[in-house]
Amino acid sequence: MAGACLCHVESPVMVSHPEVGLSATADPQAAAADPWDVVIVGAGPAGSATATQVAKHGLRVLLLDREHLPRPKVCGCCLSPLALSELDNLSNQNIARLQLPIQPLQNLTVASQGHAASVPYATGGVLSRINLDTQLAHHAVLARTAWLPNTRALYWKDENECVALTVQTNNETPYRIQTRRLVLAAGLHDAVRYDNSHSAESRRRKRPPNNRIGLGATLPATGGSLGPQHLIMAVGKGGYCGLVRLEDNTIDVAAAMHPSVLRQTESPAKALSHLLAEAFHGTTCPIDCASLNDMPIRATPQLTHQTGPIDPDCRKLFRIGDAVGYIEPFTGEGIGWALLSARLASESLITETGHLRPAAQAASHYQRRYHRALTWHHRRCRLVSLALRSPRLVSTSVQVAGYFPRLTGSVAQLITGNAPTR
Ligand SMILES: Cc1cc2nc3c(=O)[nH]c(=O)nc-3n(C[C@H](O)[C@H](O)[C@H](O)COP(=O)(O)OP(=O)(O)OC[C@H]3O[C@@H](n4cnc5c(N)ncnc54)[C@H](O)[C@@H]3O)c2cc1C
Repeated sequence: MAGACLCHVESPVMVSHPEVGLSATADPQAAAADPWDVVIVGAGPAGSATATQVAKHGLRVLLLDREHLPRPKVCGCCLSPLALSELDNLSNQNIARLQLPIQPLQNLTVASQGHAASVPYATGGVLSRINLDTQLAHHAVLARTAWLPNTRALYWKDENECVALTVQTNNETPYRIQTRRLVLAAGLHDAVRYDNSHSAESRRRKRPPNNRIGLGATLPATGGSLGPQHLIMAVGKGGYCGLVRLEDNTIDVAAAMHPSVLRQTESPAKALSHLLAEAFHGTTCPIDCASLNDMPIRATPQLTHQTGPIDPDCRKLFRIGDAVGYIEPFTGEGIGWALLSARLASESLITETGHLRPAAQAASHYQRRYHRALTWHHRRCRLVSLALRSPRLVSTSVQVAGYFPRLTGSVAQLITGNAPTR
């Protein structure tokens, strides 16, 4: 990783999560007063990175989220090489450097039907979403982004020079804010509707049949024998689950599962336990499944969808990150894609002299660059997710990989698009 701006530790250390919330720097009255240059809905990695890159030019930027920060998120918390390089680039903007306690990753184990194969995997790193998302939003605030938490975007309407966005802060009376460009970075949630109609945004969203949803939990440090710097992927019939130790020593559990599996089991915790028991059948599971019962399990909407970076009816509306489209998370690339789309959108929204680019020009610029940069990655991930639908194929591959460890490295490289160390 270039530059020394990210705090990328070489060996595992324990770092606490941020406890103090990121205070609002805007209130509803200020938000509704004058039109903004850019309003960004959603303070995940995509939204905050865009806010930083646009606000640093001196434009008026408002970043809002229905939640406050810090907050947990369903995610495997692995940062791909693409994510690390985009974070490095973001940190090198003319603002305070990002300080991210990223833990290095050294090993990957894939387990399926009682077989396991391990490969040295010194690519990428690990960081909790509590830390990552809070630090990125803080970075955006340092770049003079106005930050409005606990504010849900409800619907938008195209009005001549501006887009009017109706929002609701702290569940109180909805109000309107106006913006020259609207960036939707609301992730997998397609709750921001067009003109108070009930279906416009959902109609744009294409979802395949047989879609999965995400489940996540954080176990205490004592929740298993899983070592640091080790990513474990457990694959079963109804889905798969990633396990990794975070910077504060807690264990992140993130899974993609078919909703039918959840309907057939008593609780999401039981469904996760069954999946792990199936993958580690007859061998030792690296986490204590009973502890899942004591932890809140978070869930996501359906994972795979295709919506598109630009709205065909409004060239002032840009989508970034998961809001554009997403494919199941097995390869752990979503954060990298989100950060890349944030950079492409920012570079399209703003001219080299730091002014807003005309909407139609910016839209086609962004659309072209987005497809050029990400279409191939999306295709590769679609193939991986198809292969994962066959537990027999996965377990046979894992067995073969166990006999031919050198081959394992190549397979891991093919699947994730990253080069593992030998
Ligand atoms: C099980 C699972 C495991 C994963 N593992 C990995 C991994 O290991 N590595 C990796 O790179 N990626 C992983 N991903 C993918 C990754 O989590 C996403 O790609 C990434 O979070 C996308 O960032 P984003 O900024 O687009 O959206 P998000 O991070 O989802 O942020 C969206 C934000 O919008 C806010 N919001 C939503 N609706 C509204 C509204 N109406 N008004 C206001 N705010 C709103 C939300 O509160 C949220 O803060 C995983 C995903 C899942 C489901």
